[in-house]
Amino acid sequence: MGEILDGKKLASELGESLSSEVASLKLHGVNPKLCVINIGDDPASKVYVASKKRKADRLGIKQVVYQLPADETEEDVLELIDSLNADPEVTSLMVQLPVPPQINADRVIERIDPEKDVDCLTPANIGRLWEGKHFVEPATAAGIIALLDHYQIDLTGKNAVIVGRSNIVGKPLAALMLERNASVSILHSHTRNLAELTKRADVLVCAVGKAEMIKADMVKEGAVVIDVGINRQAGRLVGDVDFAAVREKAAWITPVPGGVGPLTVEFLMEEVIKLTRRQHGLD
Ligand code: NDP
Repeated sequence: MGEILDGKKLASELGESLSSEVASLKLHGVNPKLCVINIGDDPASKVYVASKKRKADRLGIKQVVYQLPADETEEDVLELIDSLNADPEVTSLMVQLPVPPQINADRVIERIDPEKDVDCLTPANIGRLWEGKHFVEPATAAGIIALLDHYQIDLTGKNAVIVGRSNIVGKPLAALMLERNASVSILHSHTRNLAELTKRADVLVCAVGKAEMIKADMVKEGAVVIDVGINRQAGRLVGDVDFAAVREKAAWITPVPGGVGPLTVEFLMEEVIKLTRRQHGLD
């Protein structure tokens, strides 16, 4: 039976080191500040924004949430971003996705100063990510790499298969895994013979959002299985992986909840600190 990759435990250890880092920055007069722009009333976004706020408060990071109405104009959002870009006290900035239909998410994200782009979503930072010369990383992907590092799972020469090609998870994770010398395949909704490809994975990551779509017969014996999916099923949270059955075959597996999720919010805060240090010439 596969061993658990305990993201919750790692997140809590990391949290302790982050709070002492924040305290030491503050002693030197450096104050990390994260601004989150949330537009409209998407219930999931509100939950995510609140959980970031709780985490930031716990670590002593100042977080300001700009809650804008659902009918906000793109022009006004761009103006707000310009003013936050220009404010030297703001060290990190993000727009919570999704945005309402009258707002072009690409235009809004492109307007964020790459030096403050804590989600690593601006074209400049995505380019740096693929060049392997990045100063910020998307939190979920960074958390997954840290989890593998923590359990000393070396990616060199491994066949890594990522199901899902979103800009926030699948694609940036592929870039980071490539940097660690894995041979990476990215699968998506048009992939033919998905199971044939997942079965070849030494490290299989699923970031789709379909409850328990990865079954035991799609997984190689002894694989490392990382489940990013968060799905609500019959009142409980489940991942994209059929955990109980796949655990029988895997060498290592992340649970849902308690795997990748807790690392994402922790790593967002780590990125805030990284950007803050860089802006103060401390990196
Ligand atoms: P997106 O909806 O942006 O992307 C989903 C991806 O899955 C797309 O690339 C899509 O392909 C692919 N896909 C859909 N159906 C299939 C299928 N049947 N077979 C293969 N691929 C398929 O999702 P996100 O990346 O934002 O999130 C994915 C999941 O991860 C969600 O459950 C989300 O809640 C969770 N999540 C969890 C985080 C955490 O911290 N644990 C952080 C972020 C997300 P195509 O591109 O062709 O449409």
